[in-house]
Amino acid sequence: MIHDNITVNEANHLEFAGLDTTLLAKKYGTPLMLLDTDKVRLNMQVYKNGLAKYFGETSYPCYASKALSIKEIYRIAKQENIGIDVVSSGEIFTAKSVDFPLGKAFFHGNNKTDFDVEYAIDNGVGYFVADNVEEINAISKIAGEKGVNQKILIRITPGIDPHTNAKITTGQVDSKFGTPIETGQAFELVEIALKAKNVELCGFHCHVGSQCFDSTSFIDAVVIMLSFIRDVKNLFGFSASILNLGGGYGVRYVDSDPQIDILSNLEQVGKAFNQTCDALNIIKPQVILEPGRSIVADAGLTLYTCGSFKTIEGYKNYVSIDGGMTDNPRYALYGSNYTVYNASKVNSDKKVTATIAGRCCESGDIIQENVQIPKPTRNDIIAVAVTGAYNYSMASNYNRITKPAVVSVENKTHKIIVKRESFEDLVKNEI
Ligand SMILES: *Cc1c(COP(=O)(O)O)cnc(C)c1O
Repeated sequence: MIHDNITVNEANHLEFAGLDTTLLAKKYGTPLMLLDTDKVRLNMQVYKNGLAKYFGETSYPCYASKALSIKEIYRIAKQENIGIDVVSSGEIFTAKSVDFPLGKAFFHGNNKTDFDVEYAIDNGVGYFVADNVEEINAISKIAGEKGVNQKILIRITPGIDPHTNAKITTGQVDSKFGTPIETGQAFELVEIALKAKNVELCGFHCHVGSQCFDSTSFIDAVVIMLSFIRDVKNLFGFSASILNLGGGYGVRYVDSDPQIDILSNLEQVGKAFNQTCDALNIIKPQVILEPGRSIVADAGLTLYTCGSFKTIEGYKNYVSIDGGMTDNPRYALYGSNYTVYNASKVNSDKKVTATIAGRCCESGDIIQENVQIPKPTRNDIIAVAVTGAYNYSMASNYNRITKPAVVSVENKTHKIIVKRESFEDLVKNEI
């Protein structure tokens, strides 16, 4: 099985976090997203312990909300005493609704509106990760009107290409995010931030990409960012106290992906960090990492009900399920890989090769192609693994399909944490 929270029981049914998925599907209906919250906590703890151990006591992780932004995640992050990264007022609102301590929130995004700036300041968001000059000016003005000093980091593009999917790389010079070092613009922005009233520059941020299976690009980023910090110190006499290296560690979706050991990767990056700080003779900044995918992806599993198995003679087999791109658009968007199981009969000699198709009126509404599973028949439960990240948070109501329910599984108990959307929900804003 692709991760250790997925097993098979004596009835040849798929189990997730120790529970029979076919029984959960029966109880709660499908499509259903399961969230193994024990796994979420464990993933958070690995980052928390690793950062403190290898980067210094004050270093800590911030969960990147965009991977899955629901109340329960913020409750867990609060209990585990880690920070969060937010990218919109809506995410701030969701975190605030469960009293998440927003002093430990980093506010990202390449276009924070005046409303966002005001909303974040009013709610005590700890740090803005400022993207550009106009944003710094807006923060300065609004913070001034409110008589507060707002802490900020500046988002830097270090000029690294981590060679993952082009749509999820963000660290190269030509990017809609941040300000490049290479063109000299980053230094100009530092000067502006240092002069801006009601703005307190605390350090720098970079994020090189996503789904990285080793630490090469993180180590490159550490060296480039620490050299930048040294140059800034020499130019302006300013010592950065925070270095935020973003997120991006990969997660195994299919057997051909490597299994990644986060702790040993943190050890390697920490070594490079400490060595480079010593070599450049700079005061060690507090380090923040912003893992999203690697906190929630393997804690998620989606269950669907099979509607039909159809063979197009001479071409291929289609398995139609009662969800699709509305709850998981990642194959349609990026061609992402997924592992699919027939949860009603996991192991069988009689396997077929099939395309798992959603129910939307789009030929591109596909969850995965060429999967090998025991031939499903109507009402079999189909499970798609590793769906905790960028699934529910990217869900839509296309074709007026309601968003699935989310059920948490913790210590073999289960409960609804997000109700299934109702038809009334679909029209609630309509006059
Ligand atoms: C997307 C993003 C993350 C999280 O990336 P993962 O690959 O999910 O770990 C962290 N920080 C920033 C700024 C991001 O844009």
